[in-house]
Amino acid sequence: MQTPWGELPVEDAHAHLFSHSFFETLRKQQAQPAANVNALVAGLGWEAPPADNAALAARWAAELDRHGVSKTILMASIPGDEQSAADAVRANPERFYGYFMVNPLAPDAVERTRRAFEELGLQGLCLFPAMQRYSIQDERVRPLLELAAAPGRVVFVHCGVLSVGVRKKLGLASPFDMSRSNPIDLHRVAVDHPDVHFVIPHFGAGYFRETLMLGDLCPNVSLDTSSSNAWRRYLVPEPTLGEVFQQALGVYGARRLLFGSDSSFFPRGWNKSVFETQSALLAELGVSAEDAAAIFGGNLARLMAR
Ligand SMILES: [Zn+2]
Repeated sequence: MQTPWGELPVEDAHAHLFSHSFFETLRKQQAQPAANVNALVAGLGWEAPPADNAALAARWAAELDRHGVSKTILMASIPGDEQSAADAVRANPERFYGYFMVNPLAPDAVERTRRAFEELGLQGLCLFPAMQRYSIQDERVRPLLELAAAPGRVVFVHCGVLSVGVRKKLGLASPFDMSRSNPIDLHRVAVDHPDVHFVIPHFGAGYFRETLMLGDLCPNVSLDTSSSNAWRRYLVPEPTLGEVFQQALGVYGARRLLFGSDSSFFPRGWNKSVFETQSALLAELGVSAEDAAAIFGGNLARLMAR
């Protein structure tokens, strides 16, 4: 892909797979369920995903081609949807890495996680402690982390402010618990599991200082840069995104920052504006071509190597 540093292979560390079954699960949560998935998605003004995940994968691959993106994570974005990510990866393993979301409190969490890593070949376990109201230090999380302790696997832990746009648009309740979202809680866990690599999205989504503290102490934690990073408005004074990058680079270094777009739905598709903003900022900061290659794809490729 063409970047301020010339041609670089770009890999995206944060994108959601909004599959047919993802929307079907949301539909069932509606007080007055839409007639079907197509009706629900039409109500959002989005393009309904094909029921066949291989066809959805083809839609994504064409989108990556259109922008010159080499590869992206596709994250199954609701517990129980790991098969959709597996189908997409199987359809095109050259272009996708599959991540999956698990609720560690569910009775089948360990078996689901084992199957997702070992049988489905997925590579990222996504934990959203605020969403299901558990502590990342809960003993029920430990066996999941043990399964993730292998090359080519990561644990994605959402911290900070959590708002799920699609739930909001559908008027679904989001009874989350922000007291479970402090990255400081992850410190003890990351120290106890040095063989597990953790990724925190959006620079900690508001807990920027805490996220920097964690990264300074734990070399097995990386950050993704995804989305608009509107959490900056919680800080006084509000930093620019350039200042956020500068400080994150100072503590984490270029080897632990992963570019992410947070793309999800069609017809928007791959959210190029995030790439344009962030690549222009990093070029302005004088980031070297070598560091840019790491941030915009090399780091993810290294973490995903089995
Ligand atoms: Zn996201």
